[in-house]
Amino acid sequence: CPQVQRALLALTPPLETLKVVKGRMLQAMRKGLSRQTHAQASVRMLPTYICSTPNGTEKGDYLVVELCQSHVRTLWVTLLGDGNQSPQVMHEIFIMPADITQGKGETLFDFIAQCVHQFLSVLGNPQRRLPLGFVFPFSCRQTGLDKAELISWAKGFSCSDVEGQDVVQLLQSAINKQELHHVDVIALMNDTVGTMMTCSMGGKPCEVALIMDKGTNACFMAEAHQVEMAEESSGRMCVNTEWGCFGDDGTLSDIMTPYDQRVDQESSNPGQKRFEKLVGSLYLGEIVRHALTALAVEKALFVGSNITVLRSKDVLKTQQVLEIIDKEEGTAKARKVLMALGLQPSEQDCSRVQQICRAVVSRAAALSAAGLAAILSHMRQSRELKQLVVNVGVDGELYRSHARFGEIVQSVTGLLAPECTVTLVPSVDSTGQGAAIVMAVAVRLAAQRREVDQLLAPLRLSRTDLQRVQALMRREMELGLGRETNANASVRMLPTYVCGTPDGTERGEFLALDLGGTNFRVLVVHVERDGIRMASEIYVIPTTIMQGTGEALFNHIVECIMDFQLKQDLMEQVLPLGFTFSFPCQQLGLDKAVLLTWTKGFNASDCVGQDVVQLLRDAAQRKQHFGLKVVAVVNDTVGTMMSCGYDDPKCEIGLIVGTGTNACYMEEMRNVGTVEGDQGRMCINMEWGAFGDNGCLDDIFTIFDQLVDEKTINAGKQRFEKLISGMYLGEIVRHILLSLVEKQVLFCGKPCPKLQTRDIFKTKFLSTIEMVMPPPSRGMGTVIGMVVLMVPLVWGSDGLALRQVRAILQELELQASFEDSMLVREVCQTVSLRAAQLCAAGLAAVVEKMRENRGLAQLAVTVGVDGTLYKMHPRFSQHLQQTLKDLAPNCSVTFLQSEDGSGKGAALVAAVACRGAEP
Ligand code: ADP
Ligand code: MG
Repeated sequence: CPQVQRALLALTPPLETLKVVKGRMLQAMRKGLSRQTHAQASVRMLPTYICSTPNGTEKGDYLVVELCQSHVRTLWVTLLGDGNQSPQVMHEIFIMPADITQGKGETLFDFIAQCVHQFLSVLGNPQRRLPLGFVFPFSCRQTGLDKAELISWAKGFSCSDVEGQDVVQLLQSAINKQELHHVDVIALMNDTVGTMMTCSMGGKPCEVALIMDKGTNACFMAEAHQVEMAEESSGRMCVNTEWGCFGDDGTLSDIMTPYDQRVDQESSNPGQKRFEKLVGSLYLGEIVRHALTALAVEKALFVGSNITVLRSKDVLKTQQVLEIIDKEEGTAKARKVLMALGLQPSEQDCSRVQQICRAVVSRAAALSAAGLAAILSHMRQSRELKQLVVNVGVDGELYRSHARFGEIVQSVTGLLAPECTVTLVPSVDSTGQGAAIVMAVAVRLAAQRREVDQLLAPLRLSRTDLQRVQALMRREMELGLGRETNANASVRMLPTYVCGTPDGTERGEFLALDLGGTNFRVLVVHVERDGIRMASEIYVIPTTIMQGTGEALFNHIVECIMDFQLKQDLMEQVLPLGFTFSFPCQQLGLDKAVLLTWTKGFNASDCVGQDVVQLLRDAAQRKQHFGLKVVAVVNDTVGTMMSCGYDDPKCEIGLIVGTGTNACYMEEMRNVGTVEGDQGRMCINMEWGAFGDNGCLDDIFTIFDQLVDEKTINAGKQRFEKLISGMYLGEIVRHILLSLVEKQVLFCGKPCPKLQTRDIFKTKFLSTIEMVMPPPSRGMGTVIGMVVLMVPLVWGSDGLALRQVRAILQELELQASFEDSMLVREVCQTVSLRAAQLCAAGLAAVVEKMRENRGLAQLAVTVGVDGTLYKMHPRFSQHLQQTLKDLAPNCSVTFLQSEDGSGKGAALVAAVACRGAEP
């Protein structure tokens, strides 16, 4: 029968069409999420301020009140902390007076509060503080878990003076009127969210919920920064899609059949809730009725029957439609239903009616699947995953009525979102328990937040703290420069005998050594008219040599030099050598430097108190190597300043943030009390790593810093360095993480044996973990370019970074949940921010001193910087520069990264020295 075929075809969207629907849903969702387009969006994507799914540790007693179609339900839910396997629930139902849904808002809320009052009386009026969750199944504009303005009533409700009001407050006032002052309304939520929360039972969180009931809706855990209507920018937040309104802007008109048009026209809200009217059980019976009517008019059905009965609304119930589609008893059921309507169906009529019913129900399932596929694809994309594995909580009579329905949803979703693996989890009594779990999670998170804030508070420095550090650094600098006070200063302010930065006329070929960091290197540097060329070789210094005898160390160094000269064919030449030696030295001349103390893990014997140039010459002697001509010993800070100074004459400061930290700068000779002469300037190697060794920073050190310091080979020394540099930041983080585990707020408090190992948490992890794209600027992009622009800007996200956190933690045998990853990142951020800010406070003291030295209102100066931490950490330099600007507003400071400052710089110092030597 062609007419029936046509009807069936119209009601059976092919896969291509479903793909189109999915695409449009995605687009509608994006529109709803964006601040700019939200107001016009049909899919509202409402923020719920639910930022976490349960982890099973939730416990306590919770009161819930649920506003339903014709009744109010109150619940008392006790969670036992057992993974929410067996919450204890007591509940009571209160039928609402018929007219209350159309009356005054106050009356409605008073009624709800009375229900709570009665319920509590039955329970014996417990007097302790009771958190109450309000399940309110209407669209609300939420600005917090407990702040929700009703957007508009629906489902037959139309109480006055509620739209635009905060319904949490309305309920709280009504509850207070009942003298229930110990009941606090702490959360409001939609029924969809409740389903998601209850389905998070076992090990795996449920992050999507799908309601297929009289109406339809869905919610899911979105990346918070994409939810532009909420201020949260990190983590995730559950979004209530309100997708029932999908299509209200006309996007579904080509999908809608004439039957759907009629259902819509006859409904109480024509033009609205277009998607819901294709999917919700409230409408399926009506769609079938209109299809049958049309076919009967075309004489394709019920020939000879009087079909007027089919013209009255709601004569065919969705329940009946669902029974008719049954395989075995369906046609018999169809006959019964049709007969009851006074029709005389033939055998063929019955089977055709069954086909129509099946088409309508299958379409509802397939369209829900298209919507679900859109959500899943969105989640997968925004989490930057190849494959999304996710649990989807499902509820609603339509889903429960027929196994076939769930099967269609599952299989069509699989076709439309093949890169997502979905498990549908049917929910049991969702909303009430869900509400309790929402509250329990909120309470747990608030308590954890307090713990975390308390723990991290000492690491968060105020502006005043930083200003004090700056002032202390300034004081220590003065002490270090003074002839009498130098011996007692923690900042040694060592003269370097480098009295000028390069002027560009330097020429020649030089050898350079770089000792004092992770690697030992030998270089040959050609300083020529058109620039600097170098070749270098890295040599490992084993810890046994680093901490063995001085003789062995310097022998090793000379062997490396000889190997290098051999390889570079430099054996026959005697090149001037610059020696970058990055440890505190008392310099007595450019080529005479007495080691004051080892740092950064070095501890070779019989070196402290010796001239390191002499130690090198002695070793050369021992090795019969007579071609060494050491002309300068240079600290790496000085080398860095010199190499940047070659490109930028304003570069008069050198800074290192690598294994250790240190700085140097050009000081006026008249201020350098430890060297004779008042003319010109000299570069001062501050050795600021030791700042605080005299106790002046004690109140800034935290318990974590103490723990790190205790285990170093130079406990109590280099205290400033231990707050800032690469050798220590990972360790600080590790100690904080251990403490958070102990406080049960990280990794569910499970012991982490591997995390007990020293140095297992590398400082480079901080870089990886903080490597996040900057938060997308709100309101970027035009409406026209929206879809195109949003993809790269908004959709690059936390996902990747957080996956890296998880990967790093996995290597440490730690199973991190999403929240764990967020917390680890917060710890890293706190530690690296503090390091950058302290470094800025130190620099602020330096630039301010230089400005005052020169009697300038404004100083423009460049800092040459080296060190892997500074160069590789994604935030360090930004924080450093921002804080410096704030602390030294009268200095405009440019940062220039040095390329191989130690090598190039040593050669340049040698070159400057040779320039002076040759008349
Ligand atoms: P040095 O200061 O010894 O000359 P570097 O400047 O290379 O050497 O600094 C090495 C230090 O940098 C190491 O202690 C390590 O902790 C740290 N580091 C290495 N890689 C990174 C990274 N990607 N991000 C931050 N710090 C790093
Ligand atoms: Mg270095």
